[in-house]
Amino acid sequence: MFDLVITNGTAVLPGGAAVVDIAVSGHAIVAIGGAGTLVPVGATRVVDASGQFVIPGGIDPHVHCALFLPGPGGKMIGSEQPNIVSKASLFGGTTTMCDFVFWKPGTTLTEAVKTRQELFETKCYSDYTLHIAVESPMGPEILAEIPGLVKAGYPTIKMFTTDITPSRMAHLTHYGEIWEVLKILSAEGGLALIHAEDNDLVMHMYEKLIAEDKVGFEHLAEAHTVMSEELSFNRVIGLAKNVPGAAMYMVHTSARTGVDAVTRARKEGFPIYAETLHQYVLFNAEDYKRPNGQIYHTYPSLKYPEDQKALWAGMESGNIQCVATDEVCCPLEIKLIGNRIDDTTGGNSGVEPRVSLMYTEMVTKRGFSIEHFVDLVSTNAAKIMGLYPRKGVLAVGSDADIVLLDPKLAHKIDGAALHAVDYSPWDGWDVSVWPSMTVLRGKIMVEGGQFNGDLSDGAFIPRKIPEEIRRGPSV
Ligand SMILES: [Zn+2]
Repeated sequence: MFDLVITNGTAVLPGGAAVVDIAVSGHAIVAIGGAGTLVPVGATRVVDASGQFVIPGGIDPHVHCALFLPGPGGKMIGSEQPNIVSKASLFGGTTTMCDFVFWKPGTTLTEAVKTRQELFETKCYSDYTLHIAVESPMGPEILAEIPGLVKAGYPTIKMFTTDITPSRMAHLTHYGEIWEVLKILSAEGGLALIHAEDNDLVMHMYEKLIAEDKVGFEHLAEAHTVMSEELSFNRVIGLAKNVPGAAMYMVHTSARTGVDAVTRARKEGFPIYAETLHQYVLFNAEDYKRPNGQIYHTYPSLKYPEDQKALWAGMESGNIQCVATDEVCCPLEIKLIGNRIDDTTGGNSGVEPRVSLMYTEMVTKRGFSIEHFVDLVSTNAAKIMGLYPRKGVLAVGSDADIVLLDPKLAHKIDGAALHAVDYSPWDGWDVSVWPSMTVLRGKIMVEGGQFNGDLSDGAFIPRKIPEEIRRGPSV
């Protein structure tokens, strides 16, 4: 007797899509069999998924809850908390979010992790993990904390090669300290996450654009340039190649030059992975000129049609492995407060439509296989971030994180009807599927538009980066 059997759906399994029965008991998938074969065993609940796709729960490797943003009157306020973001994520078919601990000098990494955990524990509906973002100066005491945190399930350290804007609080890690962190991660089994931009060029362009009175946000792609992505990706790759055993994951790749740098390094066998955002593949710098054009922005910046072409080609060839959101949820009123190149709020409420939009844009419109789509929204992130095979796969023994994508729920996105905030950059976009059900570790969290989640449902998932991910480009 099972708790749940999902029968007759087209399930995306490691060996390919097939019509099967999937049985769940407790938190895990306990059996997978031919269509109709597990129903007779008996189950508390049988769900007929005929005509639907059954996929592993989406994994968003790059989310920010409760991030500080410019609010009314120049006051800093927080973006939406884990309860809001995780609820929207489950409605959209994402069951695990990877958020960030931002460490600042004056505290320890361990204290920063503890503070961030308190924000999530019993306050998040979905499962979650935490990357740790550091900045210079760290000094030897902070560096000395990293090995213990890697062992405790926090094996990913994020570093910025830029302060992003002249008005923002510092983020930058100097190359010397990036080098030190890479050596530690190499020895301890970690993975470096890099936000790469050439700080000199970015700050030069801010000065120049401000002097020329080109301060409107429609100039953001001139501040955060294609050339900056070229120089910074290649510089940090060059640094990492000098650290035997170093492995890197490039967050929010936005330009053709970034894709080229990653592709070249992978060809040489260097263990490097790349993420892009659905924002970058679906919008470009022309969109800044549309009404409320800030809603299309996220840092570094939207780029140009030829960059989008390269990002799509990178996903198709496997040189880009993940599509993330870089989620920062805030109401439209807050998103529109900044309107300059140096104060426009980044991020968006993309976590809910991500999976269905990507199915539509990849499988329906561009002929990607459904297996490749699942890799890009779930499986690859699970493998690279050290969640696999617990997450990111429909297999016996894996967590029962299961999403049913229903073509009968095809519709136009209505931003106001989504669950995080009151707008969406994808308002009016077609989706050819939508989740009819989201299951998190065996619990039906969303069914037919009804939310059954409880704030005690979300769990922290400790991670360990597999050796093959760190040895060479294995995904
Ligand atoms: Zn981010």
